[in-house]
Amino acid sequence: MLGVYIHIPFCQRKCNYCAFSSFVCDEKEVERYTQKLIEDINSFHNKYPQDRYKKVDTIFIGGGTPSLLPLNHFEKIVKALKDNFDVSDDYEFTIECNPNSLSEEKLSCYKKNGANRLSIGVQSLDDDELKFAGRIHDGEGAIKTIEMAKNYFDNISCDLLIGLKGMKKSKFLNGLDRLISLGVKHISAYMLQIEKGTVLEKMLKEGTESVPDEEECIEVYEETTKFLAEKGFSRYEVSNFAKEGYESRHNLKYWSGEEYVGFGLSAHGFLGDQRIACADRFDLYYKDEGMYCENLGNKEKIEEHIMLGLRCKIGVDKKYLMQLGYDIDKNNSLKDFIENGVIISGNDSKLFLNPQFYGVNNFIITSLLPD
Ligand code: SF4
Repeated sequence: MLGVYIHIPFCQRKCNYCAFSSFVCDEKEVERYTQKLIEDINSFHNKYPQDRYKKVDTIFIGGGTPSLLPLNHFEKIVKALKDNFDVSDDYEFTIECNPNSLSEEKLSCYKKNGANRLSIGVQSLDDDELKFAGRIHDGEGAIKTIEMAKNYFDNISCDLLIGLKGMKKSKFLNGLDRLISLGVKHISAYMLQIEKGTVLEKMLKEGTESVPDEEECIEVYEETTKFLAEKGFSRYEVSNFAKEGYESRHNLKYWSGEEYVGFGLSAHGFLGDQRIACADRFDLYYKDEGMYCENLGNKEKIEEHIMLGLRCKIGVDKKYLMQLGYDIDKNNSLKDFIENGVIISGNDSKLFLNPQFYGVNNFIITSLLPD
């Protein structure tokens, strides 16, 4: 079934490491943007009238900071979705939030409008790390937000960053423990990336700041994996860990090659054989210009299937690759990987990456691609 992603590109302030499509905007811009989003949702089926695009089972409102959106705008967007799509009884509806921008009123409104999953950008519970990252909340603020959110939502995910200045293994694991004790069911632990054009990149270039080296980060990542496994969280994707039944169904669509539509600035979609990216500039987006579309041929589909399938528990389907003209059993590296326990061959035609090797998956993936 189709998944729907909606991008809300507004933030209260830009974090030091952030290269996402997010901006500090005034009310007028927010209003104009909401209007355009609704127009796009309302006109989607004119362009894609196929029956299979009428029913959806996952909705993800991401950003940016969707929890900054005034509630009347949020409600209008949800109404447009419900007017245009048949939402499956068994649906997942996630909204991304930041600790500083949630309130009882917002949580109650999200719940009333059908949201059933919250993804909270905690990043760290350590005040010095948060300050370094340029976040506008502190650790205690994040904890209070989760406690408040628990009164409304059972399915709560927290994002964390590995690699902030001042990171210590013990501190990181204590933070995880605290989140789990609060009842968090899903953790996304991402490695800090130094992106071009960010404040962080500038600080590091100027030598005014430094971050932990790669080895330290990998150690923390590996300890995180072990710690979370002991607490009953399984790693179902390189950076994602969940209690049973709490995996992100929407994100699994991205990794399994299912179809989804993206509405909003720089939002991505995958419909038919086409990858689509909306414009990443407001002026172009409002004029329906600057959209990027790419038709995937067999070669691209094979590469994507191997890359995405090995990143997560979905795995790689040999039969599907064969249909696309690639007999992966003839790949020279595959036999070695299986013999050495790097790749696990399933009972059916599936291949899985041994989760122990998620941290070094790039080399393995490259070796398994067709020549
Ligand atoms: S809150 Fe998220 S999207 Fe907004 S600036 Fe910070 S990292 Fe970027």
